Amino acid sequence: MTPEQEIKQAALQRGGDQVGIAAVSRINECAPPGHRPDDILIGAKSVIVLAGRTTPRGAWRSPDYRTHYNNRDFPRVRTGIAMAVAKFIESKYGYYSIGQVPPPIGFNPSLSFKLCAEMAGLGARSMAAGILLNRELGLLNFAVCITTMPLTADQPMADSVCPHPSCVELWQKHKSTPCLDVCPECLSGELEGERIKWMRYDRRICSTRAQNEGMGALQRIVLEGTNEPDPERRKTILLGSFSRAVMEAVASGNVTGQCSECVRVCPIHREAQKLTAKMPTAEQLTEGNAQGRVV
Ligand code: SF4
Ligand code: SF4
Repeated sequence: MTPEQEIKQAALQRGGDQVGIAAVSRINECAPPGHRPDDILIGAKSVIVLAGRTTPRGAWRSPDYRTHYNNRDFPRVRTGIAMAVAKFIESKYGYYSIGQVPPPIGFNPSLSFKLCAEMAGLGARSMAAGILLNRELGLLNFAVCITTMPLTADQPMADSVCPHPSCVELWQKHKSTPCLDVCPECLSGELEGERIKWMRYDRRICSTRAQNEGMGALQRIVLEGTNEPDPERRKTILLGSFSRAVMEAVASGNVTGQCSECVRVCPIHREAQKLTAKMPTAEQLTEGNAQGRVV
């Protein structure tokens, strides 16, 4: 087994659904100074990108959005997987590695995980909130391990994934797509033939709609609660069911980045959430692990 295969297998065994490798030199052709892997780890040569299903497939079948949110478990475990891979590389191969990039999210993250994942061939940009999609997993969620170890990189996908043929048909008839229909406030764009002509995702609107149980909400509750002169209203703000939900979400790391309603209606994502009648055998899974591709 090559070092690349061994590292990928280690990542898959610890809970990643797919894993790819990107060269730092390739990422640096697109990432601006200050947001490159070697700004974070001196001498970085490779980025191992771990992709996971955000939730088990069943979570997309719940009519209760809280069930869906609470089943978003990959974002909770992804850093642990990346950290385990970093330690594996350091102990087995003797190259400096890290598994956490602060801050990984927000309006000015240190590194674009999406860019790393594109370069690692895991997915391609879509009209739905600019997220990366692939046909096996649909919506992708990421963690990265940055290492000074030179590794053979995977190649970006040759073909785009979005738009789905049904979206092309819909565009020809109605000049819209399912994702644009669901969220016209945040999303806009046009298709040209079977490709995206242009797209815009307004993350400022998206974050205020979707990130209503995160750290920002907690800070707002504290500010509004302490400024509220009426004791009964103050009590409701600080001790009510909304503040409890926010504190539970922050304490358990169950923070929602996006509501994903634009993804829920995406035919590529919907197909990826279907359980096939015949699941892969243990032998097929082992073989898939060795190749770094497991559905
Ligand atoms: S995640 Fe939600 S708010 Fe954000 S673009 Fe999609 S549908 Fe709109
Ligand atoms: S619904 Fe999915 S496939 Fe169709 S345009 Fe939107 S993101 Fe692309």
